[in-house]
Amino acid sequence: MRLGRTNLEVNKKGFGALPIQRCSMDESIEILRKAYDNGINFYDTAHLYTDSEEKIGNALCDVRENIYLASKTASETTTDFWNDLETSLKNLKTDYLDLYQFHNAPSLPDADLYNAMLEAKERGMIKHIGITTHKITVANEAIESNLYETLQYPFSYLSGQEELSLVEKCKKSNIGFIAMKAMAGGLIKNSKASFAFINQFDNVLPIWGIQKISELDEFLSYDEGLILDDELKSIIESDKKEIGSDFCRGCAYCMPCPEEIKINICARMSLWIRRFPTEPNLTPEWQKIMNDTSKCIECYNCVDKCPYGLDIPRLLKENYNDYMDILNGKTKV
Ligand code: SF4
Ligand code: SF4
Repeated sequence: MRLGRTNLEVNKKGFGALPIQRCSMDESIEILRKAYDNGINFYDTAHLYTDSEEKIGNALCDVRENIYLASKTASETTTDFWNDLETSLKNLKTDYLDLYQFHNAPSLPDADLYNAMLEAKERGMIKHIGITTHKITVANEAIESNLYETLQYPFSYLSGQEELSLVEKCKKSNIGFIAMKAMAGGLIKNSKASFAFINQFDNVLPIWGIQKISELDEFLSYDEGLILDDELKSIIESDKKEIGSDFCRGCAYCMPCPEEIKINICARMSLWIRRFPTEPNLTPEWQKIMNDTSKCIECYNCVDKCPYGLDIPRLLKENYNDYMDILNGKTKV
């Protein structure tokens, strides 16, 4: 597919390199090399993903000219911008990035930062300019600004009308849409339904977060012509009913909490415990983590930072009560 106005011809199976942070260097190289050998040519990473860039650099530096590398900077000053870019190039063992993105922008970057991007492009250090965000308002502003060649935003079959209209707007403006969290941060279990859903949009490039060969094999097994048939549609409908839209995506942008509550785990325990094996979530360690939600002082600091505007103190209470009912055998899951 063509990635919007970048005109990059990318394999529709993009590689999201956040999860390989959890793999060893050897495991990462094995996964990345297998992805490359099977035609995956777009790799998305970030300066903030610890050793992810280095792993990609080690695995793919000898085939650099056959792949597209996308990275990100969360810098707030031009000094940090240039430091981040230099570090990313060094880690990735390359002298240019195909796409450089402002990382999780809370608002559109100021003129100084954007001009630094332009200068990097003029100097040939980056080929294209993109932006990633979790905020729908920022995403819309980015499209309207006409300054970006790609937009990276969470998009999955749980997405609502607002996200669908973002995809449409990007298509009209010829902006490449990169879908992050296409498995809704782990809540979606059916990769085939997910793949078929995204496949309906010819301007959307999903970057599948992969950390195991078996996960890579799953995505590689899906034909690029896979369509959303009735069976897959009914899986999606039942997931939408079960999960709804008022759910925590586990992104952790609301953290840290001053009371050290693990919000990104506790605010979605009810969903998690029903979608994955129950027992491992009922150990004394997990009980302590859930009990700590009672320390919430309702300062609402987290709510201001949650890109989905969730009422976190309420979600914490609901998830805790549900958890206790499961623990005490009142609720069977
Ligand atoms: S509202 Fe509660 S969970 Fe949120 S930051 Fe404050 S104490 Fe932590
Ligand atoms: S509460 Fe919001 S910011 Fe925090 S982890 Fe969940 S979705 Fe992310």
